[in-house]
Amino acid sequence: MLSLGLVGLPNAGKSTLFNALTRQNVLVADYPFATIDPTTGVVPLVDDRLDRLAQAVASARCLPATVTFVDIAGLVKGASQGEGLGNAFLSQIRSMAALAIVLRVFQTPGSPTPVAPKEDLDILSTELRLADYQVLAKQQQKLVRLVRGDPKLKPTLDLIGAALADLDQQSLRSSSRAADYQTQLASFGLLTLKPVIYVFNLAADKLGDAQLAGQLAAVAGSDPHLILNAQLEEEIGRLAPSEQADFREAYGLAETGLGQLKQLGFEALGLQTFFTAGPKESRAWTIRRGWPAPKAAGVIHSDFEAGFIAADIIGWSELVESGSWAAARTAGQVRTEGRDYVIADGDVAEFKFNPQSGRR
Ligand code: GDP
Repeated sequence: MLSLGLVGLPNAGKSTLFNALTRQNVLVADYPFATIDPTTGVVPLVDDRLDRLAQAVASARCLPATVTFVDIAGLVKGASQGEGLGNAFLSQIRSMAALAIVLRVFQTPGSPTPVAPKEDLDILSTELRLADYQVLAKQQQKLVRLVRGDPKLKPTLDLIGAALADLDQQSLRSSSRAADYQTQLASFGLLTLKPVIYVFNLAADKLGDAQLAGQLAAVAGSDPHLILNAQLEEEIGRLAPSEQADFREAYGLAETGLGQLKQLGFEALGLQTFFTAGPKESRAWTIRRGWPAPKAAGVIHSDFEAGFIAADIIGWSELVESGSWAAARTAGQVRTEGRDYVIADGDVAEFKFNPQSGRR
């Protein structure tokens, strides 16, 4: 559900960050994740709540939620026109839920290329906008012909015209047009509609520089950002888990790069976590905020959604305190909720469903 494409100019530190993110946690959880291929990694999201739930209800296994990272190379100046690796990477970007734009704020050893994150970001944004421009201009050409025979297409044609005008100035996600504008554009698979998180990759000795941090925050503007040192993150990732916390403390690093990216990614995409917990397994599931119970159940299995009857709900900490579903039920802490119930972050759910429903 949370997939983040790492994009950036060459030498921004994408691969270093990718390695740091995908390696750090392989050691943490007993879970068959790691790098699927050299550029795709599925990483478990450590969640203390899940560990405590699994312990409380004595689950045989514990399955964390995951985030997928893809190291997307190929975004260079002129990429949308086929420069560099051509634009095959564009389809990779299209399949991501959000983009982590990696910006270099360290001097590359042996290279005179100046540190200029704002200018680098301008290059990247321009390429993404050009790519969207091409997609929409092609649609526009097609619709201009079709609309003569089918006037119902006029609103779509107008929508595309508005989006093309916006792209001259800005990313589509920054447009201040009416709220449903972005929803209507969603079906075109546009890159600049995707939420972004800026990752400023700083030299280690600049990590505590408050003035620089302020400048970078201004570059990010209203989009979320984080500051880290990819090399340092990677080195920490190589340490034994028990040593990692000490090392972080020594550098004054509160959170792992992965932890920060997860949090910003969840916020940018409006995601949250709910749990299932029983003797067989405890598991964390990622859903969007505001989803009603049947839709959340559908993440587990489509039959759960189609045949949804009710959901037994308890907050994770209440279940931990009770020690078991049975004790929690006796204490009256488990609520039975219907199809309009909106799942809250940290809910533990047991779904009742009719297995026949939805089968034809
Ligand atoms: P990519 O082209 O964006 O994937 O960049 P790489 O991850 O391959 O990094 C490019 C070069 O910069 C490599 O030699 C890295 O070791 C180095 N590098 C990456 N992150 C940092 C960093 O935070 N500080 C310093 N000094 N070098 C880094």
